[in-house]
Amino acid sequence: MIKKLITQNQPVEVDPTEVAILKTLIESNAYVSGSALAKSIGISRTTIHTKMDQLKSAGFKINAISNRGYCLEKLPQNLLPQLLHTYGQALSKDFQLFFYPSVDSTNLEAERLFSNGAKTPFAVFTHKQTAGKGRLGRKWHSQANKNLYCSIMFSPNTPPEKLQSFTLWAGIEVCRSLKALIPSLDLKIKWPNDLYCNGKKVSGILTEAKIDSDRMHTIILGLGLNINSTQKSFPKEIQSIATSLRAETHQSYDMNALSIEIIQATVRAYNKCIESNDDESLSDAWDAFDYLRDRTISLTENGKKISGLALGINVYGALQLKANDGTIRSIHSGDVTLKR
Ligand code: ATP
Repeated sequence: MIKKLITQNQPVEVDPTEVAILKTLIESNAYVSGSALAKSIGISRTTIHTKMDQLKSAGFKINAISNRGYCLEKLPQNLLPQLLHTYGQALSKDFQLFFYPSVDSTNLEAERLFSNGAKTPFAVFTHKQTAGKGRLGRKWHSQANKNLYCSIMFSPNTPPEKLQSFTLWAGIEVCRSLKALIPSLDLKIKWPNDLYCNGKKVSGILTEAKIDSDRMHTIILGLGLNINSTQKSFPKEIQSIATSLRAETHQSYDMNALSIEIIQATVRAYNKCIESNDDESLSDAWDAFDYLRDRTISLTENGKKISGLALGINVYGALQLKANDGTIRSIHSGDVTLKR
């Protein structure tokens, strides 16, 4: 039986009329008259007027000119639930989006939502995490408003082996999406779950699953992606190891559009695992983004420290390490350190 988890936090409710207005304005990319808007959405012109005021107070820059109508002056780059839902129409109809101004951790909020009856698949977004989680109880630093903090939840109800490579595929698919958007990015994945740009961490993935005897009931993929933080704004303890898309490219990005890209990438990775689609080999796909390949690394496995040369991953996603004694080991989990 699933226990209900207590939550005090409520997701922001998004007005479907505001979403319909935004969709029309974005698609037309020009002035649209109040009457045309009212007619296409099926509401009165007075309502259009009220909704425009609401959108302006939510942060949208809307120009209004008599005889011409309304036009979006500039699309906001910060995460706004109305815009997230507008772009989210590209997702499948059953995919739900939840947005919170602040949560402790999006992975924890996803668990609470599920235990309170939310139907999967869904994604949780927030401006700010007060207790962002990394692996092994580590902390994910979550500067408010600048970066992406999200969790995407599925209920596969399949044998757990089906999803054993999910985190790796998600890393690959997220890298592919980011590279398509910003081809100049030097993007790599540090096995198993961190995205690096030019040797610094730009994103961390934390996958948490509920497994019971031989079934995986749920799986949550949490992702922190540094987007619009400046290098200086990272706290001292991670300033030399962290980076953001902005720090790498000297420009900022629309977090709403990126959020939907990240969901689509994650869904592609999930479907690949669930459909056992082996059109593409995991190790070949991984090679394109492998941060560790041909580097000397050390790691701790079951409390024991091993060093050697990283040789990529095998078909199951296990890291291949040529140990100093010449043997090749398959590492299924561990904490990797690069040797300088
Ligand atoms: P590592 O091998 O780098 O220690 P990990 O995979 O074990 O990483 P994660 O759970 O991915 O750890 O992330 C937590 C670690 O990432 C923290 O200990 C900190 O070093 C670093 N970190 C925390 N917040 C950020 C951030 N916003 N951007 C980049 N790095 C961060």
